[in-house]
Amino acid sequence: MNTPRVDVDGVSVSPDHYVNGHRVASSRTFEDRSPLDWTWKLAEVARGGALEADLAVAAAVAAFPAWAALSPEARGEYLDRLADLIDRDVERIAHVECLDMAMLEESLRLRVIGRGARNFRAYAELARTYESRSWSSNGTDNTVLRMPAGPTVVITPWNAPFMLSTWKCAPALAAGNTVVLKPAEWSPLSCSMLMDLVSEAGFPPGVFNLVQGLGAEVGAALVSDPRVRRISFTGSPETGRLIGEAAAKNIVPFTAELGGKGPFLVFADADLDAAAQKAAVMFDDGGQVCLAGTRLLVHSSVRDEFVALFEAATKQHVLGDSRERATTLSPLIHPEHVARVDGFVTRAREHGDTILFGGQRVDHEGLWYEPTLVEPLSNDSEIVQREVFGPVLTLQTFANESEAVELANSTQYGLSAIIYTSDEARAERLGRQLRAGTIWVNCFLIRDLSAPFGGTGISGIGREGGDYALDFYSDLKTLQIKEGTTHG
Ligand code: ADP
Repeated sequence: MNTPRVDVDGVSVSPDHYVNGHRVASSRTFEDRSPLDWTWKLAEVARGGALEADLAVAAAVAAFPAWAALSPEARGEYLDRLADLIDRDVERIAHVECLDMAMLEESLRLRVIGRGARNFRAYAELARTYESRSWSSNGTDNTVLRMPAGPTVVITPWNAPFMLSTWKCAPALAAGNTVVLKPAEWSPLSCSMLMDLVSEAGFPPGVFNLVQGLGAEVGAALVSDPRVRRISFTGSPETGRLIGEAAAKNIVPFTAELGGKGPFLVFADADLDAAAQKAAVMFDDGGQVCLAGTRLLVHSSVRDEFVALFEAATKQHVLGDSRERATTLSPLIHPEHVARVDGFVTRAREHGDTILFGGQRVDHEGLWYEPTLVEPLSNDSEIVQREVFGPVLTLQTFANESEAVELANSTQYGLSAIIYTSDEARAERLGRQLRAGTIWVNCFLIRDLSAPFGGTGISGIGREGGDYALDFYSDLKTLQIKEGTTHG
């Protein structure tokens, strides 16, 4: 049974789940509104619970043996077909995702949605060349077999929902696992569009399923299902802990990417203008980017010069409607999130931290928040230690390299770090000393899909990317055959 499709500004989107190759409705729904105009209700989306979680996992369990038995080449053909369909539909998906979560339409169209297609294509290729290892020892022939692990639950956050979901689902499917995807309730529509393409690409029923709904309801039901053999999650540390507990109960491996509080280090020998321009990029997407370098750590000798350049670069930003080309600053995702961001700034002000610029909602109707720079009273300030996930950066200074490292490593997070310096030896030294999963020197967000990706500390557990993801979604098995065993 399913509900009529919804017209989202000219694009037809199903508000239903996708289970076992069919659209499935729920008796309950949840509202999905556009952050571009909060009075605009985009859809009433199917709100799954224990029943839908059970149906979707059952479908993934039933589809698993046949999917796992296919060769990587055969699975890769499905993934390549899906990638081609995503490329065909980039504009439509970009438009809906822009309306749904307010990322700039142009960057969705030119960069982010196409990366979803690249994720499927890259993993189709990587799985084809994902070798078994064999060697002889102690009178036996040893072979390492990489076996598909089983039904996999993927839970994703509301920022970049399409790209982040494909980043996890692509390796899971390529490794031979079946998938149940649960996107975030604040921006579910682009993942529903993905399921139309999964159907069109002819995936066997049950291989790739989608259930929608609230985390505490359908999400919790999915991660506690004992038939699930892998869980991949991106979201907050609080939810990561709950998912970790559920995974531990069933002894299920999980990966979790839980956000960051990345340092952005600027040394006196850096190209200060380039550093300031890049620091202003941290306000893109309303600062709702886990990899952003949100703690500006600047050598004290260039503090004033850097702040002036940074403020000038920030003023170049154009706040507006994310559909328009001229806009560079989008609204935040949800009124609750704006209140959360504003709460951090209000508490910082009360605590005695200095607001160097910004620090206000732009108006009381929209969800825009001013680009904000805070100079904290001390490194213990909440605004330095906790992830804001909004357009709010902090500014601190250091006197020398060891102080820079100490400050950079002083939060519980460890997802990313950015360094601006013209000294390659320093870059390499710091690369080893900084606690982070990814470190960019004189650049930001350049990604190679075969490189490991993930966090240390409370930024997460496990690594995705390249063979690291394929290893996670596989069970490694050792086969030892005594030498001389003859063919039967
Ligand atoms: P954020 O703070 O970015 O919204 P959350 O961790 O709350 O991050 O949400 C990320 C994803 O986790 C969403 O898809 C959400 O529905 C889901 N989620 C939230 N709570 C749970 C839970 N208890 N179990 C499983 N998934 C959950």
